[in-house]
Amino acid sequence: MKAMRLIDIDGPSLDVIETIVERAVALSKGSEPLAQTHTIANVFFEPSTRTRVSFEMAATRLGLRVINLDGERSSMTKGESVLDTLATLHAMGVELAVLRHGHTGICHELSEQLPPSLGLINAGDGCGHHPTQALLDAATLTAKGVRLSEAKVVICGDLRHSRVARSNVALLKRLGVGEIGLAGPEALMPAPGSGFDGLRHYDNLDAALIDADVVMMLRVQKERMDESDGGLDLADYHLHWGLTTERLAKAKPECWVMHPGPMNRGVELSAQVADGPQSLILDQVRMSVFTRMAIFEALLS
Ligand code: ASP
Repeated sequence: MKAMRLIDIDGPSLDVIETIVERAVALSKGSEPLAQTHTIANVFFEPSTRTRVSFEMAATRLGLRVINLDGERSSMTKGESVLDTLATLHAMGVELAVLRHGHTGICHELSEQLPPSLGLINAGDGCGHHPTQALLDAATLTAKGVRLSEAKVVICGDLRHSRVARSNVALLKRLGVGEIGLAGPEALMPAPGSGFDGLRHYDNLDAALIDADVVMMLRVQKERMDESDGGLDLADYHLHWGLTTERLAKAKPECWVMHPGPMNRGVELSAQVADGPQSLILDQVRMSVFTRMAIFEALLS
């Protein structure tokens, strides 16, 4: 990995990936964090609850100094570029920026342009990548004792717009997962060549769920859709693709249910499933803090 950079799942070595996942699990079980003295900035140009707060909590628990910049209220509204904004923060002493932005590919572009002394973590770029979400999902499953090499993981929903799905597929492949199945309406399937090639695509969720150990449900990303995606009727979507208790019964009895949040109850999944005993949704949120601590440790130590 480039020093202090986490842009996508293909960047770090497998060794670094495994260290982050194992360290996140150890931290969740009470291992002492490695104290840090650096200054980091959370720079968010898109709405976020879980990612922004968990990065802040992770940094605080490590003793990092944290600057929070709300993109909507920054000088970007006066026309300043993201590159100039980050360079400005760096000149003031920020050593690593955690960036979320709606433009797909922006972190790859910036990574070429920024001074090497400024670290960068991609906290979600448009429809691109969300590597820290994939790492926290792997840590959540590892903490639950799931053996990925033997697991069938089904990813269901709006794959076309999902940076979470793209990063999860990349990570699960690198970790040697048993099988990945994709499910969702044809109109929301990923474009060829966008990181999902060669995976089995199911045209109905019931069939996809047979023998599944894990099902990751994705949010319907209305904000990233245009006319070409066709109008989406949410009630109809739930009828065909929503995870209900009856549907979940098709999977293995101990199949875990995941969702990166924010979830839409009654659309991607029913409230009973979201709050049920197989749901890991709040475990993912808890593990997000430990995983982001492990990522800061890996990049800054
Ligand atoms: N929170 C995740 C993301 O930022 C998933 C979502 O928004 O649907 O990509």
